[in-house]
Amino acid sequence: MNMILLGAPGAGKGTQAAIICDKLKIPTISTGNIIRAALKSGTELGRKAKSYMDAGQLVPDEVVIGIIRERLQEKDCENGFILDGFPRTIPQAEALDAMGITIDTVVDIEVSDEEIIRRLSGRRVCEACGATYHVEFQPPKVEGQCDACAGALVQRKDDHTATVRERLNVYHEQTEPLKGYYAKQGKLHEVPGEGDIAEITRLTLAAIGA
Ligand code: ADP
Ligand code: AMP
Repeated sequence: MNMILLGAPGAGKGTQAAIICDKLKIPTISTGNIIRAALKSGTELGRKAKSYMDAGQLVPDEVVIGIIRERLQEKDCENGFILDGFPRTIPQAEALDAMGITIDTVVDIEVSDEEIIRRLSGRRVCEACGATYHVEFQPPKVEGQCDACAGALVQRKDDHTATVRERLNVYHEQTEPLKGYYAKQGKLHEVPGEGDIAEITRLTLAAIGA
């Protein structure tokens, strides 16, 4: 199963991807995570991406397309994958199609802008393993500490309120048109993304027939 999770920043793509990848035994590929790892290790890619990311802007298409082209050639993608955070523009989706990779299904997780702002202001991520929490909606067992690896939980720089608004604008302008792109291909499933996390997983799996 080659699938795409679409949705605004903070819609719950990463949260759902972690659950689904465990269930279906296929990897999650998050361009955001790949870029953050590059930033941390100080590579050329990280240096190129930093200013865009910090400003809530998208990294240029050719950079992320290059990342995905390489990543999808790795062996663990042979039996399928979940794309989280890619594609985010029509040219990225066109590039994916041009790579000759068949996308079986696209799930769009629908969350209102007000809810996104609440979620991102309370999001915390593990510095060590990248697991995601929310101070109120999905708290860790011990405050500030990852349940899975005991790593420190931190706030992403781009989750501060001013940047979140810019990211939402960018989402509506550049990413939301992908719904029409995949609806035309008959692949789009819309799932309501507000409410219980387990219920959203159930609706997502039902939509993709898994
Ligand atoms: P995305 O990967 O789409 O940016 P995340 O999965 O990181 O989004 O979720 C954003 C924030 O919202 C996180 O803090 C997460 O814990 C929280 N969250 C995810 N799903 C839900 C939900 N159904 N209800 C409430 N909070 C949620
Ligand atoms: P995410 O972790 O998915 O919220 O992504 C964080 C940031 O990384 C985004 O705000 C962008 O700056 C950058 N990024 C991640 N994926 C993409 C993409 N497909 N296209 C462009 N920029 C991206």
